[in-house]
Amino acid sequence: MADVHDKKTRSYNMSRIRAKDTKPELLVRKFLFENGFRYRLHQKKLPGKPDLTLRKHNTVIFVNGCFWHGHQGCKYFVIPKTRTEWWKDKIQATAEKDLKNYEELRRQGWKVIVIWECELKGEKRRETLKNLITKIANE
Ligand SMILES: [Zn+2]
Repeated sequence: MADVHDKKTRSYNMSRIRAKDTKPELLVRKFLFENGFRYRLHQKKLPGKPDLTLRKHNTVIFVNGCFWHGHQGCKYFVIPKTRTEWWKDKIQATAEKDLKNYEELRRQGWKVIVIWECELKGEKRRETLKNLITKIANE
C-alpha cells in the first residue's frame, strides 16, 4: 500500500499527537506523580467528577479548559461570533455548575484546587506547578 501521507501531512499529524500528549491535565498528573503524589482520576461519586482526587490530602483538583469553563478575563475565553447566544448560555451553565460542584465538595470537607489551562502555558507553567504543591501541602 502506498504511503498516502506526504511529508508535510505526516509532520502535521505528529504535532497533533504530541499536542494531545501534553494536554493540561496530563501535565498536572505527570508532575504530581513525579513528586510522589498519588491520586485517583475522575471519581464518579464526587460532585463534578474531579480530574484528580488526592484522598490523603483531602484535595481535589480540576484542570479547566479556559473556553469550555469560561475563564473570565482570559484571552483564551472568546465567545464565537456565530451562535453567540447559544455559546454564552452553554458556557455560563457550565461555569455555574462548576461553582455548585466546588461548593458541594467544600461542604463535604474537600479542598478544591482549580487550575486553568492558560496557567499551564509557557512560562507560567513552572510557577503554577510549584504553587500547586504548596496549595496541596497547606492544610
Ligand atoms: Zn485562562
